[in-house]
Amino acid sequence: MRGGTAELEMIELKSPSQLQIMRRAGCVVAEVLEELRQAVRPGVTTLELDELARVAIVRLGARVAFKGYRGFPGNICTSVNEEVVHGVPSRRKLVRGDIVGLDAGAIVEGYYADAAITVPVDGISQEVERLLQVTEEALADGMAMATPGHRLSDISHAVQNRVEGRGYSVVREFVGHGIGTQLHEPPQIPNYGAPGYGPILKAGMVLAIEPMVNQGKPEIRILSDGWTAVSVDGSLSAHFEHTVAVTEGAPEVLTKCPKKNPSK
Ligand code: MG
Repeated sequence: MRGGTAELEMIELKSPSQLQIMRRAGCVVAEVLEELRQAVRPGVTTLELDELARVAIVRLGARVAFKGYRGFPGNICTSVNEEVVHGVPSRRKLVRGDIVGLDAGAIVEGYYADAAITVPVDGISQEVERLLQVTEEALADGMAMATPGHRLSDISHAVQNRVEGRGYSVVREFVGHGIGTQLHEPPQIPNYGAPGYGPILKAGMVLAIEPMVNQGKPEIRILSDGWTAVSVDGSLSAHFEHTVAVTEGAPEVLTKCPKKNPSK
């Protein structure tokens, strides 16, 4: 979501039964992203991926979260190469060497889950592989700070530290967010900042953490479609996101599916 003024609103704490529903929504998003990952190949259009996602979300018993949100036209966001986030699915065919960011949201019994991956389209260079890897590591570093007693900006700082330490830049204009019965709830979670600021994290908070990382400079602009954000310098951009619950113990990633026990 778009960054803005400081959040003064309360961060809602989710109950165990609310978290149980959010796990189901999270598993839907994880399954959809896995299906999309497998469907990504040269020649496929982002609109075909969008339709695949819609069908999968409905088949899994959920509702699409993004379509119509503030007028967004797609079921998912598909952001190719220098597109940072909020790419609108189109007839554009993916070609070998592209990277495509896939951002999906689903609603189960009124609760949202939100996650994103960036996927290579066949044979990318080691250099581009590294951009994806560092963005995923930045997400992991941010999530590791989502424990009781840390402050919100400890997440932001951990992300920035990883990204800039590897020579990339963090996009400022979009932020992570709280999530629950709304797609975007307080707090906003910038991907940069000094540690030790903002609200103290508590068990029951659910956060969508989402580093957006440019290979070149951090500046972005919005295309004339009113949605697609691209890097101003045309450099590649990667995006990974998970919906994460703060618990008394380790942070719990909600946008994954429970492991099946093979012995049963
Ligand atoms: Mg999000």
